[in-house]
Amino acid sequence: MFGNLSDRLTASFSSLRGKGRLSEADVNETVSEIRRALLEADVALPVVRSFTAAVRQKATDAARSQALNPAQQVVKIVNEELVEVLGGQSREIHWAPTGPTIIMLAGLQGAGKTTLAGKLGRWLRDQGKRVLLVASDLQRPNAVTQLSVVAQRAGVHVWAPEPGNGVGDPVAVARSGVQRAREQGYDVVVVDTAGRLGVDAEMMDQAVRIRDAVDPHEILFVLDAMVGQDAVNTSVAFRDGVGFTGVVLSKLDGDARGGAALSVRGVTGAPVLFSSTGEGLGDFERFHADRMASRILDMGDLLTLIEQAERTLDQKEAEDAAAKLASGTFTLEDFLSQLRQIRRMGSMKKLLGMMPGMGQMREALESFDEREVDRIEAIVCSMTPAERRDLSILNGSRRSRIAKGSGTTVQAVNELVDRFEAAKRMMESMAASGGGAGALGPGG
Ligand code: GDP
Repeated sequence: MFGNLSDRLTASFSSLRGKGRLSEADVNETVSEIRRALLEADVALPVVRSFTAAVRQKATDAARSQALNPAQQVVKIVNEELVEVLGGQSREIHWAPTGPTIIMLAGLQGAGKTTLAGKLGRWLRDQGKRVLLVASDLQRPNAVTQLSVVAQRAGVHVWAPEPGNGVGDPVAVARSGVQRAREQGYDVVVVDTAGRLGVDAEMMDQAVRIRDAVDPHEILFVLDAMVGQDAVNTSVAFRDGVGFTGVVLSKLDGDARGGAALSVRGVTGAPVLFSSTGEGLGDFERFHADRMASRILDMGDLLTLIEQAERTLDQKEAEDAAAKLASGTFTLEDFLSQLRQIRRMGSMKKLLGMMPGMGQMREALESFDEREVDRIEAIVCSMTPAERRDLSILNGSRRSRIAKGSGTTVQAVNELVDRFEAAKRMMESMAASGGGAGALGPGG
């Protein structure tokens, strides 16, 4: 989903990785890259403007405060803005206080209304509601049959004009369907309506007459996420024509660019309530802006990780550790303290699993042995403070004492010491060449 947009946004963060500070130039450059990514994804111009303005403001503030490393800061900010532009918290359906809740579907032909009627039917039925689908799309030759088929699959009832009983008036069918639902105690009525391939006055007029006849509690505008720049015009036409209370994004399983999804709320003010992600009746879910945002940013649970790091890690201590690394005075004692802080956030395996891109490394992750970290911790704990501070005093007898104390072997102690010295040398040379000192900073 939104592959290109994801790639572009992610690329705009990667240039910040490894930077210790966020400069004004960094903010400018990142914001322009984000702007280009959004425009290329067909996001509506006013939405792009307010989005980039908000990101710029927050990134500038972040540059001043220096709480986390820049790439993480910006990811967090962009994520927050995506959640915002996608509509924040999703809301419940407006249920009727008494009698059946009437939900009318509107949208262009092919948007996915009839399919949605079946999906909604099944979803509502699973919540114990009695649902009646009403076939008021008498325009498209097969629409009534198609609705009957999905109703049957969803296990809900359908109200349609008798075949052969004249062409039928969609407004009359809608009215009688709702009447029927009242008489028979249905909980929800879903009225499927006709669309055209493009917006036209006659179709809009029919939708308005159906609306006025049934007085719906919700009018859901079904928007095909695959349509590009037209999405905005279509949404506005429906808003001004029949009006709607909520949006359903359909075909989110395809390779949509994201413009429709990211623009519709900003342009129309109506929240996205559901998303459709396939042709099957089960390919349907409540829309969650936060989940959609993390999918766009391809982040795994990185946000959870960042939040945990913010909560758990001692900022001051982490900064001290980074400074020590840079100056070559980082000792095993500091290492132990950092390791313990990180471990407070959860198992290493779980932490690694939250990193973006780790999905593809599932196998390597599976074989990660948590006990290895336990062993390292045990070895360091078995050293005296003086030893941790100065590894050069570790002679043979000290090493074998440490091995015994930690329940490991002299070989394991030697390995740890060698690895630590090597890593330290590497950090020092990186610091000397002017970068990377922050790499072991909070959450780094
Ligand atoms: P309507 O004209 O608005 O009633 O649209 P339909 O419900 O008939 O849907 C048009 C086409 O899109 C059909 O072939 C559906 O199977 C397909 N469709 C509907 N929703 C989705 C979806 O979420 N994903 C995919 N891939 N196809 C969908």
